[in-house]
Amino acid sequence: MRTRFAPSPTGPLHLGHAYSAILAHDMARAAGGAFLLRMEDIDRARARAEWEALIVEDLHWLGLDWDEPVLRQSERIGLYEARLERLAEAGLVYPCSCSRADIRAALAAPQEGVAFAVYPGTCRGRPLGDRRPGDALRLDLAGALARLDPEGLAFEETGARHRGRHRIDGARLLAAIGDVVLSRRGDNIVAYFLASACDDADQRITHVIRGEDLFDYTAIQVVLQRLLGLPTPVYHHHRLIRDAEGRRLAKRDDARAIARFREAGASPVGIRRMVGLA
Ligand code: GLU
Repeated sequence: MRTRFAPSPTGPLHLGHAYSAILAHDMARAAGGAFLLRMEDIDRARARAEWEALIVEDLHWLGLDWDEPVLRQSERIGLYEARLERLAEAGLVYPCSCSRADIRAALAAPQEGVAFAVYPGTCRGRPLGDRRPGDALRLDLAGALARLDPEGLAFEETGARHRGRHRIDGARLLAAIGDVVLSRRGDNIVAYFLASACDDADQRITHVIRGEDLFDYTAIQVVLQRLLGLPTPVYHHHRLIRDAEGRRLAKRDDARAIARFREAGASPVGIRRMVGLA
C-alpha cells in the first residue's frame, strides 16, 4: 500500500488536514506500506514556501514521517505539459477564451460548497492553432468518452459513505462536470485534475485517501487516467472534520490551525483524540 497526503500550501494545517494526514499515514503503516507527502503548490499566486515549512513542521510534530522526498507540483510542470500535449495530439483539447473569472475558479482545487460551473461549450471545436495568449485549454469530455471503453471507466471506493465499485456514467459526468480546464497559458498552470492524476500515478499511489468533498471529481481523474494510460488507484474518501456549527473547516479558520493548538499546549495524542483517531 502506498498512500499520500497532498496539501496545498496556501494556509496553515488545520484539524481537517491533520485527520486526513494521520489517516493516510496510519493506513499505510498498518499495511506495512509507504506514506508520501506531496505539495500541491501549482497555484503560484497562492502557494507560499512559509506555509509549506509550517505544514512540514506540524506534520512532524504530529509524529508523521514520509518515506520519500516531498514531491512538489511546481517542479513538475514540464511533465504535466508533456501529458497535456498527448491529449492535444489526440484532438481532445481545445482553446477557450471564456471569462477569466470562470477559468480561475475552475483552476483552483475544488472546494465544498462552491457550485461547479459546468462549461457551456462555447469554444468547443475551436482548433488548437487558434489559441490566443491567455486562453485556457479545456478537455473535450464528450470526445474523450467516445474514445474510451465504458467498461474500463470504474473505480473502487473504500470510504464508508460511498463504499463499493463505481461505474462512471458518461452522460451524468457531462451534465455535472463537463469540459474541465486542463491548463491556462500565461500562468503556465496545469489545473488540479490533471496534475493530481499524473502525480498519483508517478508516485505509484495505490490508495488515495482524501476528503469526501473531492469524491465527485474522482470520475474526471479516472477519465484522464484512461486517456493517458495511467493506473487507477483505490479511493478512500473520508468524512470531513467540521466545526461546532457543522461547517467544514477551511484555511481561514485560524482557530483550528494545528499551530494554535500547539501554542495552547495540546499534544499530538490530544489532536488524534480530537479527530477521533487516538
Ligand atoms: N490539494 C488538495 C487539498 O488541499 C487535495 C487534493 C487531493 O487529495 O487529491 O484539498
